[in-house]
Amino acid sequence: MTASPPIPFIDLKAQRSRLGGTVDAAVARVLEHGQFILGPEVRELESQLAAFCGAKHALTCSSGTDALTLVLLAKGIKPGDAVFCPSFTFCATAEVVALVGATPVFVDVIAGTFNMSAAGLERGIATATRLGLRPALVIPVDLFGLPADYDEILPVAERHGLPVLSDAAQSFGASYRGRSVGTFGVATATSFFPAKPLGCYGDGGAVLTDDDQLIEVLRSLRVHGMGTDKYDNIRLGMTGRLDTIQAAVLIEKLKVFKEEIAARDRAAAAYTAALADVAIVPQVPDGLASVWAQYTIRLRPGRRAKLAADLAAEGIPTAVYYPKALHQQQAYQHFPVSDGGLAVTERLVDEVISLPMHGYLDQATQGRIIEAVRRALG
Ligand SMILES: *Cc1c(COP(=O)(O)O)cnc(C)c1O
Repeated sequence: MTASPPIPFIDLKAQRSRLGGTVDAAVARVLEHGQFILGPEVRELESQLAAFCGAKHALTCSSGTDALTLVLLAKGIKPGDAVFCPSFTFCATAEVVALVGATPVFVDVIAGTFNMSAAGLERGIATATRLGLRPALVIPVDLFGLPADYDEILPVAERHGLPVLSDAAQSFGASYRGRSVGTFGVATATSFFPAKPLGCYGDGGAVLTDDDQLIEVLRSLRVHGMGTDKYDNIRLGMTGRLDTIQAAVLIEKLKVFKEEIAARDRAAAAYTAALADVAIVPQVPDGLASVWAQYTIRLRPGRRAKLAADLAAEGIPTAVYYPKALHQQQAYQHFPVSDGGLAVTERLVDEVISLPMHGYLDQATQGRIIEAVRRALG
């Protein structure tokens, strides 16, 4: 028997062979003009990102983590403040909160969508108040590329006078009932880490907002809190810029991004049709569109390791996002969880497993994956 070739989890090479020529030419143009910091491609990309999602402003920056940090600094989040976020997320969501000295308060998620529960948020706000913290900000995460339930979350936040910062590191390009990710809450943070749906060739991120005052503060914070120029310092800031070379790469990748999203959506639909009888497949509520940063299925606890091992033996990679929730991690276990606990989160960390997903997953390759999953779970 000839071994089948290994399948990549995210196939950046296929995208590279499609876009290689135009990306190389775009990078070469930057090498020629030499404006490596905040060159013309940065502004060009920012106007394209804003237009893409319908936000008034986009500000590119050095990573998704820094995009979140810039907004926390701009909003003056400080010690004594409670910031509500899920525990079922990548660590950066809560890390930035703790790094500015505030307290992340962990909120449970909904099993079907993996995203923040509005009822859980209500409980989290009550918990923070009981602990003597000042409720200050809500950070819903659009996990795996699916927008959080903004119609439920925004009214709860508003009732308590809390601004909402959307962690859209995995969901740029997704939509929620006719509105694009990037237009919810006071600001949206996204990431261009290479493995994200829209990735560059290094670290990168952006903040999207409609707020004219906020964007000016963010622009200042991105360059050491500059005032009229970078040697006029009116606040403490960061080295938070996106490299011009990365902006040039992203401009080329943005040209095919809608097509790639459509291809991801077809691949997700094929997985769902083929696997719904052997696993719990991800739900997309009516009117929402995911960009499928991950295609994540759920299995009864204890079944995941065998699936991963059986697939690995056939050259098919899988990943577990996330094997431990943040409140179960050494660095975060001393932060408060909402009263009533995080039962759904604690169940999901034992159930989830993600399958290969990207915009270049051809039918033959996906057929191989589907067959192998069905055999392993059969
Ligand atoms: C990737 C990610 C981040 C951080 O983005 P970086 O660009 O890697 O800094 C933040 N939040 C979530 C949910 C992410 O998936």
